[in-house]
Amino acid sequence: MPGSEISQTLFDRARAVSPGGVNSPVRAFRAVGGTPRFMREGKGAWLTDVDGNTYVDLVASWGPMLLGHARPEVIEAVREAAARGTSFGTPSEPEVALAEEIVARTPVDLVRMVSSGTEATMSAIRLARGWTGRDLIVKFAGCYHGHVDALLVEAGSGVVTFGLPGTPGIPTASTAQTLVLPYNDREAVAAAFAEHGAQIACVITEAAPGNMGAVPPLPGFNEFLAQTCRAHGALFVSDEVMTGFRVSRSGHWGLDGAREGWAPDLMTFGKVMGGGFPAAAFGGREEIMRQLAPEGPVYQAGTLSGNPVATTAGLTTLRLATDDVYAHLDQVAGTIQAMAVKALETAGVPHVVQSAGNLFSVFLGRTEPVVDFADAQAQSQPAYKAFFHAMLDHGVYLPPSAFEAWFVSDALDADALDAVERALAPSARAAAEALGA
Ligand SMILES: *Cc1c(COP(=O)(O)O)cnc(C)c1O
Repeated sequence: MPGSEISQTLFDRARAVSPGGVNSPVRAFRAVGGTPRFMREGKGAWLTDVDGNTYVDLVASWGPMLLGHARPEVIEAVREAAARGTSFGTPSEPEVALAEEIVARTPVDLVRMVSSGTEATMSAIRLARGWTGRDLIVKFAGCYHGHVDALLVEAGSGVVTFGLPGTPGIPTASTAQTLVLPYNDREAVAAAFAEHGAQIACVITEAAPGNMGAVPPLPGFNEFLAQTCRAHGALFVSDEVMTGFRVSRSGHWGLDGAREGWAPDLMTFGKVMGGGFPAAAFGGREEIMRQLAPEGPVYQAGTLSGNPVATTAGLTTLRLATDDVYAHLDQVAGTIQAMAVKALETAGVPHVVQSAGNLFSVFLGRTEPVVDFADAQAQSQPAYKAFFHAMLDHGVYLPPSAFEAWFVSDALDADALDAVERALAPSARAAAEALGA
């Protein structure tokens, strides 16, 4: 292996000019230790770092690269769009076409584009509060909705608790209006509504949590949330920034709501819909969305919202994401999970592999299903750390944290899957050693 000297040199330079040497914390490898790899190039299923190491990429930029890296049709469309000008500060055609594609794939009637998932959830919550005239919001422990003040909260000690700021810099007042509940816990939801129902503006949840590892909703849980909200005049906000256009052509809603016959009042999207560029959106029921400025009184805006290059990348990505692509993603995800299970069984590592559509993760050091954040915290992080580094040394790039999902891409072919399979056996043995030690 070429080593990681050039990555280390870049990391030293980066730390001199940026906190932690990164622009988003998980990239710094704090949870797993070692030198973050600085990537130079991505092509299909593979990443190449600045030292010349190659990796099968199972992070896919945390979701956006559904088709793999540098898909020629996407690059060509971006090149053409950029050549026509990169931002106008006026409406443009690509943002309309992308909105039409989103409306066609999901239950939302209208969408508003923004530039990040954080902005999408922040704006959806403002709209929910504006529409209902209520202040309280309900979220679940372990669900991540971006770094919005009111949503960056930790649960207190009880089952139904008002949130505590999850970081310095957030006034207690910003989180005091947020109720934090254990995920998948219907009784906690019922209790929260019994006590505070008339003040609750919305429930926001990941459609299938992927930010504490993959923790799918128990059967009927999302439907229960939708019904509970409706019964109390609150809005159901489904955060599909991670799952949207990834786990099916219409996101996780395509796997539960579409079959069960319910729809969220508001939804948030990001990641895949930007095709690797900063583009995100929120959308929902027409009468609610028409409350947004300039039609209604709820203010929301953005200089680069609907940017023509970003929306072209997203639109081209979605148009290429056909039913065949989703079938392939499901198949590849199933194959990798089966290979991981086999390697971990052979090495005698206790594990749970869980999935929500093609989103999945591997919890080491436990065998019980993970249904909430407390369960996710009961996995072995030392085991994951050893497993992660062995996979990295064998040329597979996994999320550098045990609390993240693995992301597949359509570019994963037989060669890439072979490389993953070869890496898994020694990595499972490394995890076994870490657990034994
Ligand atoms: C990534 C993510 C966000 C935040 O999106 P950013 O673009 O990073 O701000 C919000 N919600 C969920 C479910 C996510 O996975």
